[in-house]
Amino acid sequence: MPEEKSFHMTPGDFRRHGHAVVDWIADYYARMESFPVLSQVKPGEIRASLPPAPPQQGEPFAALLGDVEKLILPGITHWQSPNFFAYFPSNNSGPSILGDLLASGLGVQGMLWATSPACTEVETHVLDWLVGMLGLPEKFLSTRSGGGVIQDTASSASLCALLAARERATDFASNQHGCDGKLVAYTSQQAHSSIEKAVMVAGIGSKNLRLVAVDENFALRPEALARQIGEDRRAGLTPCFVCATIGTTSSNAMDPIAEIGRICREQQLWLHVDAAMSGTAALCPEFRHTHAGVELADSYAFNPHKWMFTNFDCDCFYVADRATLIKTLSILPEYLKNRATESGSVFDYRDWQVQLGRRFRALKLWFVIRHYGTEGLQHHIREHVRLAQEFASWVKQDAEFELAAPAPLNLVCFRHKGGDEANQTIMERLNRSGDLFLTHTRLDGKITLRMSIGQSHTQERHVARAWQRIQEEAGKL
Ligand SMILES: *Cc1c(COP(=O)(O)O)cnc(C)c1O
Repeated sequence: MPEEKSFHMTPGDFRRHGHAVVDWIADYYARMESFPVLSQVKPGEIRASLPPAPPQQGEPFAALLGDVEKLILPGITHWQSPNFFAYFPSNNSGPSILGDLLASGLGVQGMLWATSPACTEVETHVLDWLVGMLGLPEKFLSTRSGGGVIQDTASSASLCALLAARERATDFASNQHGCDGKLVAYTSQQAHSSIEKAVMVAGIGSKNLRLVAVDENFALRPEALARQIGEDRRAGLTPCFVCATIGTTSSNAMDPIAEIGRICREQQLWLHVDAAMSGTAALCPEFRHTHAGVELADSYAFNPHKWMFTNFDCDCFYVADRATLIKTLSILPEYLKNRATESGSVFDYRDWQVQLGRRFRALKLWFVIRHYGTEGLQHHIREHVRLAQEFASWVKQDAEFELAAPAPLNLVCFRHKGGDEANQTIMERLNRSGDLFLTHTRLDGKITLRMSIGQSHTQERHVARAWQRIQEEAGKL
């Protein structure tokens, strides 16, 4: 028989090129510190270097990998650099990268239990592990009334929580008839912008999101929340959802979950806790005070893809009452009907999220937890917090600089006392130098620099060098 024509990569070539790619990644990590952390290209530069038309004939793999080196690397901001101190971390690790690769290799679609039982069951199991590892309330366990699911991002988790809250508050009428414009949601002035996006998408409307005032530490004021809920009820509106944050993005502020939770209980409002970055700190018992009151939450989310050495994307989303979430998001068309679903004895995770399809993301998370063990994860989290606290003490001792907010964990908000322009200049010069990358926020109306410590390979020497470079640039003002 003549061989069938095929353009596919042969198994032998896949093996060879696969080894080359793994080598390339290992080398990339080894030479990471030789790159400017922030990409220095101008808008359009990368596109201009790409051929205008796609190839008619396939190209050798070596050419592809060569172009990653030549064309792509200059346009990369090196998020995995130990000198990356911008935004929040998005760290990763060997076991995570390899787990992700295996998930790509298996290439399964985990929308239903029946479409790959291991994809669902490993996810449920690992998320139950994390309840214990983080000291979360047992009601979030799949073996109780709740359960966890991996969402792509904290934004999606907040949206799903809001949708379930909306349905609970309207006895599942909003799903059928749309919103009546009376539902109201609450979060703090310092909450992540994804909450505003969620109210827009959920049909609540951004005018019906109350941004509650914060205290001098940028944490939500519970009495202001209670007052606002009262006012809204008197106006004939229907409060339904509160999002509290453990570790705000701007300054790592900790909302008082216990007090907010008590108000939500009294008022029968859904409490969602957004712990996107700082949730990981709860791996260490000494940092669990940041989670006090979380037993009052209806839902909770944190991102292993930020600070827990797991490749983007991976957000762990928990609910105390899975029945409400599932009822909110499930639709069963004929072509997805199957015996396992009908038996009611399995989770179909498409009912726990907005989209239908899903990757086997639990594999990388399972690998990370098994590689490090709780002990290994705790070690690196403690080290990041220690380095941040040390950095904060250097800032405090320098007469030209000041801390701009409390630094409870691994984020230090600080500023030069010379005003907005001085801080802007210091930041721009540092980032242009390529030596490190940091970003800013505005607190009390003033430009504030953020030193966010959470990259997998950041060590004392990187933090010390960053502080030295900051002082150097301040000296040149
Ligand atoms: C980063 C962050 C988010 C958004 O995270 P995504 O996973 O990218 O949606 C939401 N809330 C807080 C507090 C964050 O720090």
